Amino acid sequence: MLQADQVVRSTCPYCGVGCQVNLHVKDDHIYRVSAPFEAAPNYGMLCVKGRFGTDFVNHPDRVRKPLLRVNSGEPRSARPVWREASWDEALDFVAGRLTDIVQEHGGDSVAGFACAKATNEENYVFQKFIRAVLGTNNVDHCARLCHAGSVTGLQLAIGSSAMSNSIAEMEQLDTFIVTGSNTTETHPVISNFLKRAVRENGANLIVIDPRKIEMTDFAMLWLRQRPGTDVALWQAMAHVIVEQKLYDEDFIQERTEGFRDYTASLKGFTAEWAEGITGVPADDIRQAARMYAQAPTASIYWGMGISQSTHGTDNTLGVTNLALMCGHVGKPGTGLNPLRGQNNVQGCSDSGGLPNVFTAYQRVDEEEVRQRFSAYWNRASLNPEPGLTVTELVDGALTGAIKAFYIMGEDPLTSEPNLNHAKHAFEELDLIVCQDIFINSTGQMADVILPSSSFAEKDGTFTNSDRRVQLVRQAIPPVGESRSDWLIIADLARRVEEKLGQLTSAGWDYSHPSEIWEEMRALTPDFRGITYQRLEREGGVHWPCPSETHPGTPYLFAESFPRGRGKFWSLEYGTDSELPDDEFPFLLSTGRVLYHWHGGTMTRRSKLDEAWPEAMVEIHPADALTHDLSTGDWVEVASRRGAIKLRAMVTGRSPEGVVFIPFHFVEAAANILTDDRTDQRAKIPDYKVCAVRIAKTKAPAAADPATEQPLETRGAIKDQANLIH
Ligand code: SF4
Repeated sequence: MLQADQVVRSTCPYCGVGCQVNLHVKDDHIYRVSAPFEAAPNYGMLCVKGRFGTDFVNHPDRVRKPLLRVNSGEPRSARPVWREASWDEALDFVAGRLTDIVQEHGGDSVAGFACAKATNEENYVFQKFIRAVLGTNNVDHCARLCHAGSVTGLQLAIGSSAMSNSIAEMEQLDTFIVTGSNTTETHPVISNFLKRAVRENGANLIVIDPRKIEMTDFAMLWLRQRPGTDVALWQAMAHVIVEQKLYDEDFIQERTEGFRDYTASLKGFTAEWAEGITGVPADDIRQAARMYAQAPTASIYWGMGISQSTHGTDNTLGVTNLALMCGHVGKPGTGLNPLRGQNNVQGCSDSGGLPNVFTAYQRVDEEEVRQRFSAYWNRASLNPEPGLTVTELVDGALTGAIKAFYIMGEDPLTSEPNLNHAKHAFEELDLIVCQDIFINSTGQMADVILPSSSFAEKDGTFTNSDRRVQLVRQAIPPVGESRSDWLIIADLARRVEEKLGQLTSAGWDYSHPSEIWEEMRALTPDFRGITYQRLEREGGVHWPCPSETHPGTPYLFAESFPRGRGKFWSLEYGTDSELPDDEFPFLLSTGRVLYHWHGGTMTRRSKLDEAWPEAMVEIHPADALTHDLSTGDWVEVASRRGAIKLRAMVTGRSPEGVVFIPFHFVEAAANILTDDRTDQRAKIPDYKVCAVRIAKTKAPAAADPATEQPLETRGAIKDQANLIH
């Protein structure tokens, strides 16, 4: 049995569950990952990604030195040729170009993509650089693309967008709804707690989802709505609750506003009407409404299935209306719970990685807040105008308003909708800087690659989906010359400050992430009671935590909502989505599979890729019959925006007329097909509904004549080989 040199407790780098892991290290390699049985939130459980998916850390594709693009005179879409550079040369190059652009076009011509995989401290330093040095609030991240509908809806209704209950409360659930979340594949350890609630606690589960996901096997009731018709369902459930007087009068009286107007607006939204829209039998809608309303405690869990929509905000307002009218919020196991995707997507938002807020959602357009930050950062003033969102930034590149993208650890050219449009926008930029552990699809178009360190090579904190701040600990030295993101940004900030003649340093001389956290704590009342020492001692603390004697807040809104009273919002039913027609008769939905994660940058460079090595499109057996398709056949899927080829998987998981494609595979990128129309308020794209056609086809031609490999899955491998030394 191999003897570890050290076993280091840290936090899983994949999903928002935030599982605690023990990294077993030998000769600076992680050779085994186990889970501590005594530690929340996972208590000994890990899914396949946490258990077997961390070998990407030592993958040969890791960028080990800064790289400068040699062929920058060619279009960005041309295959990049890289030259290795010293850190000094690379950072001076970036600082010089950023300075020129800011001086010529102003700070608002630069945009920063913060990173939902980086630590809180790294994201804090990043947004500080963008705001304090470049003078713009143009900082956003991929939360815009996954849960902006949830954030906007919850902010409107109750003034807070975080998950209201902790993971630990799940086992005690009485009744709960899971909607738009394939929980067993996206948040596997959470799904175990939810399944345990059903099996061991006798909890009542209502699944509301067009796909036959594993959670439906545990459900007392499964409502299979037509994709994109969710709002009709929430409205009809509310109609039943009002009509049958199942609401909580005391709660409505004491904690909410607008109920009378809301009930008046429900006229006509009957269960029978909703059956016509959604395809869900009216009796099932009535039963679901009664089960939810009459439960002593009830929680709603949702994922990107209802937030990534042109009506993502309305979906969130719809479920929040239900919770408010039934008084199902503010108690253990009772609340509103958007399940956050990436390991630190909650923390990236909490740390100020959004265009309108500093840490913990303190608004940039509030004078008092701005003055507090500008005083601490030693700045005369800070920009009061909220910045642009990710989707607006891409459009800004196309119009010329945005000249430079600084991208820390994200891959918009895999995750943006309508990728051909996004690539066109990227071509127009004067400067693209990518700071990452690998060269991803976006990196292929960059001018500079700055090699950053992975989760295993640094200290810091992540905040999981239930607002629990937990430590990340360094287990191995940085690979090659890579550096932690906070070190890179602090060094760059000093150089840009100097070039811009900003003589008063905003303070970049951190020697450890704990010093950055102390600064965040000083500026953020909600974090004030959380210290590194306390995290060492307790394992994790849920914010808000206003003092060091405060226990943290596992569930929110016991007494009040941040906006005061919870507000009911009247909703109309309609859709802005692209619906099937004669030319594109199928409806496409996208999502994840258990073995892969987002753009696949990490999982496709791990053993996990052997378990699920290629893209596939789920097709219903009846549709497969009419198109002469069997599992394994090649299919071309085309939308108005582009086409991809991938293999068919014939299955009844998706309903007839609907096809499903996971978005992890660059060689068959689902987002070439998706539509870039957005929810008007949240600016989140519609990844779950667009119109496509399918046709049987031949295997794709080899993309690389030298290797005769079918379509290259790891562009970075080729491009690293294309390095000039
Ligand atoms: Fe990691 Fe999420 Fe799996 Fe836990 S459930 S091991 S956090 S990917």
